[in-house]
Amino acid sequence: MALRLYNTMSSQVEEFRTLRDKEVRMYACGPTVYDYGHIGNFRTFIAVDMLQRFLRQSGYTVRYVMNITDVDDKIIRNAVRDGISVQQYTAKYEKAFLEDAAMVGIERPTLVRATEHIDEMADFVASLVEKGLAYRTDDGSYYFRIAKFPQYGKLSKRDFSGMLDGARVDVDEYDKDSARDFALWKAPKPGEAFWESSIGPGRPGWHLECSVMSMQELGESFDLHAGGEDLIFPHHENEIAQSESLTGKMFARFWFHVRFLLVEGEKMSKSLGNFYTLRDLVLKGHRPSSIRYLLASVPYRNQFNFTFDGLKQAAVSVERLRNFRQRLSAGNFPPGSNPGMQTLAGETIDRIRVSLDDDLNTAQAQAAIFEMVRSANSALDLGQIKKDDAVPLLAGLEKFDEIFAVLKDDDLPKMRSTLDWARTEGREKEISPELMEIAGSARLSDEEVNRKLAEMEAARKARNFQLSDAIRAETLTAGIIVENTKDGVRWRRK
Ligand code: AMP
Ligand code: ZN
Repeated sequence: MALRLYNTMSSQVEEFRTLRDKEVRMYACGPTVYDYGHIGNFRTFIAVDMLQRFLRQSGYTVRYVMNITDVDDKIIRNAVRDGISVQQYTAKYEKAFLEDAAMVGIERPTLVRATEHIDEMADFVASLVEKGLAYRTDDGSYYFRIAKFPQYGKLSKRDFSGMLDGARVDVDEYDKDSARDFALWKAPKPGEAFWESSIGPGRPGWHLECSVMSMQELGESFDLHAGGEDLIFPHHENEIAQSESLTGKMFARFWFHVRFLLVEGEKMSKSLGNFYTLRDLVLKGHRPSSIRYLLASVPYRNQFNFTFDGLKQAAVSVERLRNFRQRLSAGNFPPGSNPGMQTLAGETIDRIRVSLDDDLNTAQAQAAIFEMVRSANSALDLGQIKKDDAVPLLAGLEKFDEIFAVLKDDDLPKMRSTLDWARTEGREKEISPELMEIAGSARLSDEEVNRKLAEMEAARKARNFQLSDAIRAETLTAGIIVENTKDGVRWRRK
């Protein structure tokens, strides 16, 4: 069996094929770093993370690039409001995004920043102008002429044949029914950040960023482009128009879109009071592993309805998996093997693969592992597990965890970092008694402390003092006093 994946472009589930042998080149639209990421954003990022993990597990080499949108309308507006530079404004939220992504087990893609590719974007616009695909307006902005791309609408399946040539829109996100020439490059308005470039002063539009950076990193044609379903129009439609009209080649082969997350059946919004960032949930005392497990539990094309009951249930599920692993690893079993268990482990590994091959059916993969755990736990209770059964059963768990990434028991240090962050940000009021209890209840084990100190030492040697200081602060919060002696680093508990 091979992976079959839904392709928004063909509106069908297709066999996943790569343009180059055994290599996947994929791009996901990353966060706009103007605020903390919410659980909807992370539903999408976790889905793409699982996809790339599964592709690697399936034997592909994966080149996975994600952009950080660090210049856009909202960022510029907020930076102006706060009287700071765009860079100062975005640095904080980019750091927060990376911390949050690591918190929920997202493997780090190759990251590209819009502000580091301004020259290439200006050159791209110049090439479009040269080919008659874009034009300059009196104020020095540039627009893409969509009438020059008759296939406009092919991804979102909208018919724009009656569109008005020359009607323009200069905001990045706009009305779903309007086909308008969109801004590639925006001339500076008074007080706004801008860059000098070969096409004049200004800043790139959002759609342009992704076309330029994805093609630069992955080539003019690559395998898969991902994002949340809201990006289909206009963002991805515009990326296709710019890229394909310039190169004359297919831009991305597969279009992977994640359905939106709702909260308790409603659209998440600040005004409804049902808007949660990852940090909000941790401050309420929920574990990062439960959040990941829950967000991974619904296949990416189904609507996801977030509930607190679901989150509690996810915590129980993760606990059960971890306990099972512990039971198997620590058990002292009689020699020999139980053929039933060997078969169960093998079948479970197959079922996980078949489920994920089926358009990434994560719900079925989770069901498969739980059936294994249930049967094996009963066998454990009855003393029917033999020494040689532990390895295949653990292998089943590992295969599952290569994709779901919830078995590592590192929730506590992550939760303590969120606690520290809330304190430094003056958000103590949001720290729940549940979080206080969890964070204070367990201390770092000796092994964890030794590992932390080794990491700190390595960071110090690499002159990454920001990291070594952060680790020292983390160990201190956990009540560990670190001393540098002539015999090296020593530690003791407070
Ligand atoms: P943004 O930072 O707003 O550009 O969004 C980052 C990613 O999160 C994009 O791929 C969006 O499509 C996705 N996204 C935003 N809101 C949701 C939601 N409620 N559910 C799922 N994905 C979302
Ligand atoms: Zn994008």
